[in-house]
Formats: sequence, C-alpha cells, structure tokens
Amino acid sequence: MTDFAQTRARFDLPQGVIYLDGNSLGPLPKAAGARVARVLSEEWGKDLIRGWNAAGWMGQPRAIGDRIGRLIGAPQGTVVVGDTLSIKVYQALASALELRPERKVILSDNGNFPTDLYMATGLIDSLDKGHALKVVAPEEIEDAIDETVAVLMLTEVDYRTGRLHDMMRLTEKAHAAGALTIWDLAHSAGALPVDVSGAKADFAVGCTYKYLNGGPGAPAFIYVAPELAENARPALSGWLGHEAPFAFDLDYRAGQGIERMRVGTPPVIAMAALDAALDIWDGVDMTDIRRTSIALCETFITEVEKRCRDLRLGSPRDPERRGSQVSFRHEEGYAIMQALIARGVIGDFRAPDTMRFGFAPLYVSEADVRRAVDIVEEIMAKRLWDDPEFKTRAAVT
Ligand SMILES: *Cc1c(COP(=O)(O)O)cnc(C)c1O
Repeated sequence: MTDFAQTRARFDLPQGVIYLDGNSLGPLPKAAGARVARVLSEEWGKDLIRGWNAAGWMGQPRAIGDRIGRLIGAPQGTVVVGDTLSIKVYQALASALELRPERKVILSDNGNFPTDLYMATGLIDSLDKGHALKVVAPEEIEDAIDETVAVLMLTEVDYRTGRLHDMMRLTEKAHAAGALTIWDLAHSAGALPVDVSGAKADFAVGCTYKYLNGGPGAPAFIYVAPELAENARPALSGWLGHEAPFAFDLDYRAGQGIERMRVGTPPVIAMAALDAALDIWDGVDMTDIRRTSIALCETFITEVEKRCRDLRLGSPRDPERRGSQVSFRHEEGYAIMQALIARGVIGDFRAPDTMRFGFAPLYVSEADVRRAVDIVEEIMAKRLWDDPEFKTRAAVT
C-alpha cells in the first residue's frame, strides 16, 4: 500500500490551504527548488555548453519519457517529452492522418478541451486535403465510429465534468472500423491507472503540470505505439527529431522510433523540476491512487449533496465513469469559488456555471475533504459568496 502520508510530506503546500486544483496545476514538490538550483549553479553555471553531454541534458526527453511511461502503461522507449500539449496533439494528429490517407474524418467530442479541437481545425486548413472534424456528444461517440473515420481523437477524462471514456472499448471499436486512435491523457496521467499498451492506443499525449506536478508550463509528452513509430512521419520535422542532428545534413531524415517526435531544444530547467516531481511517483502504485481518489470523491459528493442542496452534481455519479475530479454546478459558481478560495479551499471555475474540485491522494487526505465540505457548507448557508468582491472575474478562472 502506498504511504500517502509520506508522499504528502514531499509537497510544499501553504499553511491553511486545502488544495483541490491539482487537476489544473499540481503543487510544488519540496525537492524541485533544490534540483532546479543545482541545474542552474552546477550544470549551467559550471558545465556551460558541456552540460548537454556531461549532465545528460540531451537525453532528458527520453529518460523522463520512460518515467512517465511507467504511469501510463507504455513500454520503455515509446514516450518522449517536450513542447506543450497543443503541439503534441498536432504532431500526433498530423502523423495519424498520413497513415490513413484514403480517409478524411477526424472524430472527436464536444467535451474535449478546446485547444485539441482548435489544433485539429488549424491542421485541416493547412493540409487543405478535404479533411473534416466531426464533433459529437461524448455519449454519441461510440455510434459515430464508422468506416469514414481516419482518426478517433479523444480526451479520456473530460476537463469540466470528469466523465471518463472507456479507452479499451472505444479503441477496439475504432480499430475494427479501420481508424487510428489518439488519446489525450491530460487528466488521466497520474490521476488513474492507464494502460496504453493494453488498450492498443496508437498515439497518446498528455501534460505534466496537472496531476504529475511538473510546474507551470512543464513540457508535455507523446507516446506512439512501437509498431507505428517507424512509419509515422513527423509533420514538425525539427532538427532534434533528425536521425543524426549533429551531422547537420541539409536533408531531413526522421530519427529512430519515438526520437522523431522531438522537435527542438529541450527546456532543461523545466525538465529538472519535472524530474524532481516524478521522484515522488517512484513508490506509488496506481491502483492505490485510484482506490483512494474514488474514496475522496465519494466523501465529497455525499457530504456536499447532503449539506448543500443548491449545488448540483455536474459529474457522473458512478465512480467507474469518473476521473479524479468532481464538479458541482451553480449559477453563482464563480462567486462561490472565489469565496472558497478566500477561505483556503482552492478549486477553480469553468464557464458558465461549473466549480471543479480535483482530488489527488498524493497530498489530499480524507480530513482535508471533510474540512473542505464544512467550509462549502458555511459559505452556502450564510451566502458568504454574495459579496461584490467575489464577483469580479479575473483573466484566469
Ligand atoms: C490542459 C489541457 C491542454 C493544455 O494544452 P497546453 O498546450 O499544455 O496549454 C490541452 N488539452 C487538454 C485535454 C487539456 O486538459
């Protein structure tokens, strides 16, 4: 059994804060500061340009990719880290479409995070080959998979509601129809067990600043199934994805396997913070994470529904159909969330009326959840949210 008291002690959380927003930005691991400081003073400061070899900077995208691979069921050497998730979505989609040249439909759902859909439409316009993005409701996805679909592109866990797609079943259905799959694991990696190999996913992408706690703007990851990697043409054919970057050939030749999904120079300082965050995962069993996360979510839902009649559950009630977050809806959700944050319970808000609460067992305990519910109850019962100071919207909600 994973020792969650010990993992919690490895985070630097401010006194008096109950942090229920690790689904948006994970908290600071205590070891990250010293690790980054060492990279600055010892590696960059003393090694200078030699750091690329001496400190292993050039190998980080693969080494860190392998550490993430363990958490998503990907074999060694199939995951690489770099860029932002939007870029990784674009790369995966461009490669997948080329592998199904006779088909023109990208199928996704309207619960997907907008950037994934924006990247798809941008790519369609650039390609100008008659592709179309078909977006249906999440519950209609399964029936919409047919022989016109080139790529099924889904985010496993809905960022607003926490609704969880059945990755295994939908991938199987897509393959039976001859389509490829891209799974966005932004709200899955570190939140629940994922098995990209077992599910036979073709491509998977995700970010590392949510449940993996890599820090604001930490680089994203991409997985390509080993049997496809040698045939996937990188649309973003940067020099570090070249077979021999330091040959400086004028002609591009894609690198071996997942290496080809690298683009440019890795963000070494950000990688150091991410690597320190991943140390915490070494002793963690994902089935413990899942069991504990479900227990925390269940306590929260049961208690909030019992004590705050005005809040409507915005997430699936069945824990097997939910990720590691819970949403409640209210017309004044923005003001209620600001009142909660003022009292130290940090979640966030998504327009028009959704309050999101993320439950990460690494640093959130049952006692935190109970204390958070007490505060929610008080804010609702006394209408403490009904104050002009809580109603002015900030740029980031
Ligand atoms: C968080 C998130 C993103 C963010 O993309 P960035 O390029 O890292 O800003 C993209 N897609 C999904 C599904 C997300 O949840």
